Amino acid sequence: MKKPVLTIVVPCYNEEEVFLETARQLTNVLEDLQSEHLIAAESKLLFVDDGSQDRTWELIVGESEKNPFVTGVKLSRNFGHQRALLAGLEAAKEYSDCVISIDADLQDDVSVIREFIVKYWEGFDIVYGVRRSRETDTFFKRATAQGFYRFMRKIGIHLVYNHADFRLMSKRALDELSRYGEANVFLRGIVPLLGFRSTKVFYDRKERFAGESKYPLKKMLAFAFDGMTSFSVAPIRFITLIGFLSFFLSSIAGAYALIVKLLGRTELGWTSIMISIWLIGGLLLMSVGLIGEYIGKIYQEVKRRPRFAIEENLYALRMKTRQKERVNV
Ligand code: UDP
Ligand code: MG
Repeated sequence: MKKPVLTIVVPCYNEEEVFLETARQLTNVLEDLQSEHLIAAESKLLFVDDGSQDRTWELIVGESEKNPFVTGVKLSRNFGHQRALLAGLEAAKEYSDCVISIDADLQDDVSVIREFIVKYWEGFDIVYGVRRSRETDTFFKRATAQGFYRFMRKIGIHLVYNHADFRLMSKRALDELSRYGEANVFLRGIVPLLGFRSTKVFYDRKERFAGESKYPLKKMLAFAFDGMTSFSVAPIRFITLIGFLSFFLSSIAGAYALIVKLLGRTELGWTSIMISIWLIGGLLLMSVGLIGEYIGKIYQEVKRRPRFAIEENLYALRMKTRQKERVNV
């Protein structure tokens, strides 16, 4: 087999505090892999600036002038982690045989990248990085994340347990991914649907190197909810079930009320009416809201809006000039 061209895609949102260290560590990884003849010389680090407000983009440009491995893509505004990652994967796959995605904050162990590549050589198209322990996460984050995986599995969405977006994908897996045109990108849900030969590599997750999490609770909840409603209609089915159940219960209650009336004991009333009005009202509002959520999703999908916009692409620029140079020589 020919040595594969590897591109490591790193989405960055306000990561000026960690960027230089991340670039340094990943450069070392690429250098080591090259000296072991595991990857081709054209392998690259592709940093995707997701509309940062700090100096992240300047740092990427500066580094790309000094470090031949480093290149970058700048999105026109903040599109969110998943779309930034997607933009990077799409940009990278044209010039690569395999692509690894990793967060900028060095929480994922960069030394297992070598194992990813070894698995690629063994013929795997998708390699999932899986966290062995979550000791460095706060108790709250750990509990919510684990609850999330369990719940998703219950409603029929098969995610790889304790896998975030640290993974290797081959070019053909990425080509397949590009055919999934949904606006609600939830890569962790889509990638297992692609099929292909896949495997897992285990590692220990570390603390964020510096800076703070770009996923506050609000974003995390939105992410979980999006993941759920863009992959499963189980919640809607659940509501239908509740509807049937409450219909059944209210017919029993109705029969009871009728019997009581026929027996001439009609002074009961206020409590039961109040309770049922509130209960039914609540159920209805909840149902309408949830169905509305799905309609909202459909609305977003039918618009077919582009999922990200690239403002500057150092990567394509560099690859194109290199191709021209080759033609001229
Ligand atoms: N990120 C991004 N766009 C965003 C939010 C986050 O590109 O709108 C990037 C961020 O720079 C990091 C990765 O996504 O590389 C994961 O974010 P973070 O480490 O803050 O999340 P956590 O590890 O706390 O879940
Ligand atoms: Mg992180």
